[in-house]
Amino acid sequence: MSKRVSARKAPISPARAASATRRILEQLGQQHPGADTELHFTNAYELLVATILSAQCTDERVNQVTPALFARYPDARALARAATSELEPQIQSTGFFRAKSRSLHGMAAALVEQHGGEVPRTMEALVELPGVGRKTANVVLGHALGVPGLPVDRHVLRVANRIGIARSDDPVVVEEQLCAALPPADWTRASDTLILHGRRICKPRPLCERCAVTDDCEYFRHVVSKERSTPAPRRATRARPGTTSRAATSKRLVRSRRAKPK
Ligand code: SF4
Repeated sequence: MSKRVSARKAPISPARAASATRRILEQLGQQHPGADTELHFTNAYELLVATILSAQCTDERVNQVTPALFARYPDARALARAATSELEPQIQSTGFFRAKSRSLHGMAAALVEQHGGEVPRTMEALVELPGVGRKTANVVLGHALGVPGLPVDRHVLRVANRIGIARSDDPVVVEEQLCAALPPADWTRASDTLILHGRRICKPRPLCERCAVTDDCEYFRHVVSKERSTPAPRRATRARPGTTSRAATSKRLVRSRRAKPK
């Protein structure tokens, strides 16, 4: 994004938020049918582990690591018994493995001590677990527990602000704005769709010519289309090897005239 949008700017009108946001998400949904998390899991515990590992790491890489991890630690009790030094080499390839080992161990121990080994079904309880922030909690709620949740990651933040269906640098504010405009049943799918759009099309250098919502996108209207209609600045012509540029010739002429005896 070339222009950063400051947190808590003027709110978008409720009418646009409600109807335009739904329509735009519908169009994006058609462009990315079946959008879903790309992390592999079979229950809430596994998705919680996978989402913690996915911080600063690709889902693909996490999916390479988790099958062996889930086989060795099939539930929170097994994971809580593992020492962090034992976990570290197993998750090293996902990056930040020391911090992630501490988070996994602490999260599993808290599940055992406070929730009977089960993953709690509320945002309040989830964010109390070590290594679990609001985004991770929303991923687990929405995808594994059937509780509406709208995770806001860097892709959702970028795409929603560019289109103009949210206006803030703060993920919590963007989550509030999108949730206010969409029915709860659509929250998780909306997040998945915006994430896929951000990964495939609306990248940091957006591929607007392949986008389904250019007509509704503020960034396209105010930045991309203006850049396209502005003629490119003329570039200074360089002298070809073996030739002399006009500027160099003129400088040499001036020097030679000054040097001439009167
Ligand atoms: S038009 Fe361009 S900037 Fe706007 S959402 Fe599509 S890809 Fe992103």
